[in-house]
This record gives sequence, C-alpha cells and structure tokens, in this order.
Amino acid sequence: MNGHPTRPEDFDLYALGVLEGEEKAAFEAHVPTCAACAEKLAEARGRISLLAFAAPPIAPSPSVKERLMRQIHAAPISVSAQRERARAPREPERTVGPFPRWWTGAVLAAAAAVLILVSIRLWQENAHLIDELGVERVELQKQQAQLDEARHVVALMEAKDTRTVALASQPGMAKGDVRVMYNAKMGMAMCDGWVDPAPANKSYQLWLVPMEGKPISAGLVEYSNGPMKPWMVKLPPGVEAKAFAITLEPEGGMPQPTGPMVLVGPVS
Ligand SMILES: [Zn+2]
Repeated sequence: MNGHPTRPEDFDLYALGVLEGEEKAAFEAHVPTCAACAEKLAEARGRISLLAFAAPPIAPSPSVKERLMRQIHAAPISVSAQRERARAPREPERTVGPFPRWWTGAVLAAAAAVLILVSIRLWQENAHLIDELGVERVELQKQQAQLDEARHVVALMEAKDTRTVALASQPGMAKGDVRVMYNAKMGMAMCDGWVDPAPANKSYQLWLVPMEGKPISAGLVEYSNGPMKPWMVKLPPGVEAKAFAITLEPEGGMPQPTGPMVLVGPVS
C-alpha cells in the first residue's frame, strides 16, 4: 500500500486497534504524510471513542479480534442491502463523513460486539477471581478458627483454676462418660467423652448449673460417624458452677432444660 488505504474500513479498523501486520505498517507509514487520510482517521477515532466510553480500556483477546475481523469482512454488503441498492440505484446514499451510512453501521455494530465480548470476559474473570478469593477467605477463616480453638484449649488446660468435672449416667438413663473442663474466670468449657446416641428427634444438651440462677446452655452433643464430638464453648465469664448436667431435649435444644437429666456431675 503506497497510496491512500484502499479499503475505507481501514480507518475504523485502525481506530479499533484491530488492523494488523503489513496493513497496519503501511497504514501508519502513509497516514502521517497525508492530510486527507489523517482527517479520516480522526473521524474514525471519534466514532470509535464514543463506543469506547462505555468500555473498560482493555485489549481484546486474539479470538475476539479474529471474530471482529470476520464480522467486518462479512458485513459490508449483505444480500438484502445489495437488492435494495439494485432497486433504487439513483437514490443518493446518505453518508456520514466519508463513509456510507450502512458501512458505519456495520462497523459500529461490530465494535459494539467487541465491547460486549470484552465486557463479558472481564466480568467472567472478575467473578472467577471473586470466587477464588471467597474460597480462600473461607478456608483462612476456618483455619484461624481452628487455631484459636486450639489456643483456647491449651489455655484452658494449662490454667491452674480450671476444674475437671466428671458426669455420670443417672439410673435408667443412657450410658455415658463425659468430662467437662471448666474455667469460671475465662468463661470457657470443654466437653469430651461419650454418650449413647439420643433417640430420634431428640438432642442431648449440656448445662452449666450455677450457684445462683438458671442453668446456662453449654451446647449440644453431636456425633461424627459414631463417637461424640468434643466441643468447646464460651460462657459468661465469672459464673461459679455448682454442677454440669446433660438433659434429653427436643432436637436442636432448648433455652432452658425441659427433659430428664441423663448425666450429672457436681463441681467439687
Ligand atoms: Zn492518504
């Protein structure tokens, strides 16, 4: 290409950033030397920048470019457009700038398609990133919680004023052997041991029975594939315990004990 670009669409393609290789090199070599072409390029940039306003400044991927190129080369004269032009050959073509309106429309439609594709891709990438971050955050929180609990267990076990309370099965009730480590000052208890599973639709619930006032729920007995899961519970600090007890309650537990006492252990 030694003279003006041979295809009028080259200005739009260049402004869109999709003119490539030799065509791009020839275009860039010619335009600065030619006032007419420089003006056409400025016009093309104006058209494209209107669209670009709505889009993030990101280069389309090679596949998007390829698709755009195909659309643009397929678009210039559709069969119906050719027929219309054959039917009314003398009707002057309405134009915008140097290009026929139909052509500008094709470029703008293609450009809009690119922007939509790029936006969708960006959105997908963001969604993916947010997903990954979310997963990592949840994992991190889980690990942090496990670490915190391990620290609390150690602190509870090491504290000199931590009491260990053994809970014994009451006559005629489910068998079990449960121990509660309790530190009143720290307001912390840890429950471990075993108890036969509760009947259907029922839960075993652990209670701190204070020296004064109503029992305080200290959590539900849960099972993981058989044995009772040990658990740690935060309680209001400074409450002196008279006893710990496990009662049989409706599934999910109750705010205050309503069922029979299954295991009881006085604080000595
Ligand atoms: Zn020129």
